[in-house]
This record gives sequence, structure tokens and C-alpha cells, in this order.
Amino acid sequence: MEQVDKGLMKKLVDGKISDNDVMEMRRMVKKDHKRFWTYLEVLQEGVSWDENILMRLNDHLYIVSKGNNERVVKCDCGHEYGDFRVNWKLNADLRVRETQEQMDEAYFPAIAAPEASWMEIREYFCPGCTAQLAVEIVPPGYPMIFEALPDLDRFYREYMSRPLNDESIEWFQNKTAEETAKLKMNI
Ligand SMILES: [Zn+2]
Repeated sequence: MEQVDKGLMKKLVDGKISDNDVMEMRRMVKKDHKRFWTYLEVLQEGVSWDENILMRLNDHLYIVSKGNNERVVKCDCGHEYGDFRVNWKLNADLRVRETQEQMDEAYFPAIAAPEASWMEIREYFCPGCTAQLAVEIVPPGYPMIFEALPDLDRFYREYMSRPLNDESIEWFQNKTAEETAKLKMNI
């Protein structure tokens, strides 16, 4: 195999790829450079909205290019979480399991559950489609984990040789603290 075609890419994205194809892909001497573009094409065809996908964050969330100068996090259901430089979890629905009973419900066997005196389980859901988007198990009070702030400009320019047309040094900055400061002021 010299190149991963669109049909195979779709199977890969849908989790329906055969063991043989996996082996073939692993044996490829050189990963084909075009693969990322084919991947984006398949992802784009899988969603019902038109904004261009720049990167996939997880099973449901994407960073998309919107309007003139926006890069936002968007769920496959269409719900938007705002600027990708702000932790999208701030705008998700949150359920916290903090008692031992609540934690035990999520584990089988229950003995494998974390200890409620040390940890809590935070489950993040999409307000648009209720899909579970992330789970974090952390000590109470621990800041929400910002899972990914990709340097999109650098990735597209240096690794994909196709720079984005709205490049700016402003993009690769974590704006979460700014956003949470605003929330505090509103109280
Ligand atoms: Zn959703």
C-alpha cells in the first residue's frame, strides 16, 4: 500500500477497518503526506454543518474555522463552545461524582473506584446533544484540565506545508484564565 485512500480512511474513522488493512498500513515504508487531507475530507463529510474543520479534538469535538477571524470548538451536533483558546469544558454541562456511592456506580467492580476522600469524577456533557465528551478523575479543587491547545499555524505551515490564511501569533495562547476572570467579575 502506498497511499490510504478515502474509502479506507472512512473505515478507519468509523472504527470498521479490517485487521489486514491495519497490518498493511503499519507496513507502509513511508506514511503518505496526503493522509491528513483525506482524513479532514472524511470528517467534513461526516458532519452536517459547513465550517471548515481544522483539527479533531475527540470523538465529538472539532476546532473549526468560522467567519473571518474565528476558530471555535464545535460539536458534531452543531453546538459551539466558543474560541478554541478557552477550555471548552467551561461551557459544557458538568456532573461531579463526589460521594463513594456515586463513584461506585460508575465502576465495575465497584472496588476499583477511586476513594471519595481523595478524588472526584467529573463528567462533561454536550448541552446540545448530551454526548459525554470527557471524564477527569482529580482531587477536589483541581483546575479543569485543558486537554489540548494545538499550535495550528505551526502545524499547517511547517508540517503540512499549507499555511492557514488567518495566521497570527495571537492564536497560540491559552485564553482560559482571561475568560474565568470575566466570570468572576460578573458575580
Ligand atoms: Zn453535541
